[in-house]
Amino acid sequence: MTESWKIDTLMPKAKAFYQDIEQQLGIRIYHDLPIRRYFINEADPIRARRRIKNPRYANYFKPILEKEAEPIGIIDEFGSIPIRQGSWVNVPCLIEHLKNFFKSQDSLVEETFDAKQLEPEGSHWNYRDIRAKNIVFCQGSHTHNNPFFKDLPIIPIKGDVLDISLKDIQLPSGLYYKKRWLHSLEKEDQRLLYRLGASYDVGNSDAEPSSSAKEELIETLKAMLGSDLQFTIQAHRSGIRPTTKDAKPLLIQHPVHSSLFAINGLGSKGSAMAPYLSELFMDQIKKQSPE
Ligand SMILES: Cc1cc2nc3c(=O)[nH]c(=O)nc-3n(C[C@H](O)[C@H](O)[C@H](O)COP(=O)(O)OP(=O)(O)OC[C@H]3O[C@@H](n4cnc5c(N)ncnc54)[C@H](O)[C@@H]3O)c2cc1C
Repeated sequence: MTESWKIDTLMPKAKAFYQDIEQQLGIRIYHDLPIRRYFINEADPIRARRRIKNPRYANYFKPILEKEAEPIGIIDEFGSIPIRQGSWVNVPCLIEHLKNFFKSQDSLVEETFDAKQLEPEGSHWNYRDIRAKNIVFCQGSHTHNNPFFKDLPIIPIKGDVLDISLKDIQLPSGLYYKKRWLHSLEKEDQRLLYRLGASYDVGNSDAEPSSSAKEELIETLKAMLGSDLQFTIQAHRSGIRPTTKDAKPLLIQHPVHSSLFAINGLGSKGSAMAPYLSELFMDQIKKQSPE
């Protein structure tokens, strides 16, 4: 349990940002999420007891639960700790609605952007019939295909996720972490009950779901809920976390072309970081080149 980078700034900003979008688009994407972290060895609760004494963590932890206290079906050998202020964002739903919105405004072209076709013209860039003063690339691990930002020090970390249904077990909605997380989704989404993830494959940028990651996740699930668990896998997906060596994001201005920028390196925390970082970055860009 370590405090995430700038969490006290990022979380309120993210909440306000997603709730604003909810209001503007009339959708529901931001959900409060009870989180409970299960200790996995005898040292974990000792460390947690020390840590929760630190006032910096006071807003984030509830009192430690002893082994097998408040049972819900997860094997509990060492106790657990509930974490406050959890939330999750339904990103696929957000992206689908944002796409529809920007298409309705005639502001979205859905195709692969070929940065080699950018042509400078005075203080602007031309891309086919589009003119732009500044360009911000948000390409994740695909940045290595961009001639302007191909050398960003992005380390791809592949993660696989399983959508599953469980037979005979109904966990309360929430996120349970024991080596990996198991997200029991709210019952309003009846099509899918649980999401399990994510594997962590450093250096792998191949986006195909991998069978070894699937096996590893299934082992973790059985360690959580019992080896005779009955379950069905409904989907297996994978994605790439665009990460940096020190886990800090990159807000970059091109060293030669001062109107080209990139935001990258959001790692495992893109949903949490993007609202704060994009506003910060846009403010700086606007200050540098006012309309
Ligand atoms: C398994 C897993 C679990 C995660 N869990 C969490 C979590 O719990 N919380 C959290 O905050 N974050 C989480 N993340 C991380 C989060 O998804 C990333 O931080 C985020 O996706 C990074 O966003 P990005 O837009 O910078 O890059 P990406 O998500 O990689 O998006 C870049 C997009 O640009 C597109 N693109 C690239 N080049 C071009 C081009 N030339 N033309 C057109 N399109 C292009 C790509 O197709 C892609 O859609 C998780 C990621 C994974 C893989």
